[in-house]
Amino acid sequence: MTDFTSLTIAEARDGLANKSFTSLELTDAHLKAIEDARALNAFVLETPDKARDMAREADGKIGKGEGGPLAGIPLGIKDLFATKGVRTTACSKILDDFVPTYESTVTSQLWRDGAVMLGKLNNDEFAMGSSNETSCFGPVANPWRREGSNTNLVPGGSSGGSASAVAALLCMGATATDTGGSIRQPAAFTATVGIKPTYGRCSRWGIVAFASSLDQAGPIGRTVRDSAILLRSMAGYDPKDTTSVDTPVPDYEAAIGKSVKGMKIGIPKEYRLDGMPTEIEKLWSEGAAWLKAAGAELVEVSLPYTKYALPAYYIVAPAEASSNLARYDGVRYGLRVPGRSIGEMYEGTRAAGFGAEVRRRVMIGTYVLSAGYYDAYYLRAQKVRTLIKKDFEDCFAKGVNAILTPATPSAAFGVGEKGGADPIEMYLNDIFTVTVNMAGLPGIAVPAGKDAQGLPLALQLIGKPFDEDTLFSLGEVIEQAAGRFTPARWW
Ligand code: GLN
Repeated sequence: MTDFTSLTIAEARDGLANKSFTSLELTDAHLKAIEDARALNAFVLETPDKARDMAREADGKIGKGEGGPLAGIPLGIKDLFATKGVRTTACSKILDDFVPTYESTVTSQLWRDGAVMLGKLNNDEFAMGSSNETSCFGPVANPWRREGSNTNLVPGGSSGGSASAVAALLCMGATATDTGGSIRQPAAFTATVGIKPTYGRCSRWGIVAFASSLDQAGPIGRTVRDSAILLRSMAGYDPKDTTSVDTPVPDYEAAIGKSVKGMKIGIPKEYRLDGMPTEIEKLWSEGAAWLKAAGAELVEVSLPYTKYALPAYYIVAPAEASSNLARYDGVRYGLRVPGRSIGEMYEGTRAAGFGAEVRRRVMIGTYVLSAGYYDAYYLRAQKVRTLIKKDFEDCFAKGVNAILTPATPSAAFGVGEKGGADPIEMYLNDIFTVTVNMAGLPGIAVPAGKDAQGLPLALQLIGKPFDEDTLFSLGEVIEQAAGRFTPARWW
């Protein structure tokens, strides 16, 4: 019998097309896996009836030769995507039992192409976090554990449910979003592949907004090829999102296996941090050597404004968040805590509905946008952002095709281990990923090795705007050299 849950999307697509099995069988196997993995807390809502209906419909279409590119493929959806008739909470108490009357553009494109929805995936509240510990549904466990240890590790965040579910074989792929690293960092912590496409590549319509000028949707898959297949369906112009870009979506899968001979790969010296674990240094040189062996040329590059990226991000992102989250007032959506006046109702609702990290961001954001501080903080951060973008432009202008960096400064850490006393400790997780959002560029995280404790580590490739193809070609070279990594089952 086929081991349905360990198939890649590419393999399942072939099996479905030549009628070796049905989508209903594939879907049932995943629903069973989800049921058996509730200890991971990856799903916040399972939708088995809907999944089976969608699978039957896909089987019908496949039978008639009318199946789309994702026909019958079971996926998980981050709970930040509005799903029509299916509870969507952004993992915040403030949305309560909110059931959207509309479908996000990205998910509607997945259903258009025949994919099957298994349920909604856990994430940090409003996607604010790097460990999935800020979710109102509680933390997600990483399917990976340190060798010989029973300690639960975080799967990264904010797309922790997506990464954990894909790594634990609960779904074949998942949607995710990335504002400062939320696709790439959890992918790195779970040995999955995550790509944040260029800003404007995927529509943001129907995705709960965190920081609108930084937010991008993208897939988490088990292989580079699967991520390419998923991105093709997720991407595209949408008149409902004025920041989405009207350029054709290429067949990303065609980039897999393309030669990278003669490509110039930049190694930015500013990403070599003091005190960076030697394992990460080693992984980085190994990755460079693999690309070199495939015919690429390595060049040292400089991105001097890198060191200001994290502080600037923690001004821009909270500023936009404080404005976006103003809509949760007890009037239009979800939770309402009654009060004697409308002001009291607003205050009571927001105090009860938002978790500690969200409240912190709203306060920081409101502060940096306030009349006396706007120029000193917000405007300054925007100027820094322009300089960060220019760093990358200068680098690409010199003929560099892509930039190779580590994806994260460490492997997955324990639940409760970081950020308790000092939130900055948690923010530092995104040191290698936020620059990419600030510059609006595409970035992919690809599993590349393990640390001494047996935990996965990943490399990041950063590309030119709308050149996701190059990232898929290079990413596959790393995947081929490093091999694939699967966690040992304990749940
Ligand atoms: N960890 C970062 C933050 O908390 C990024 C989160 C994200 O990309 N959504 O802001």
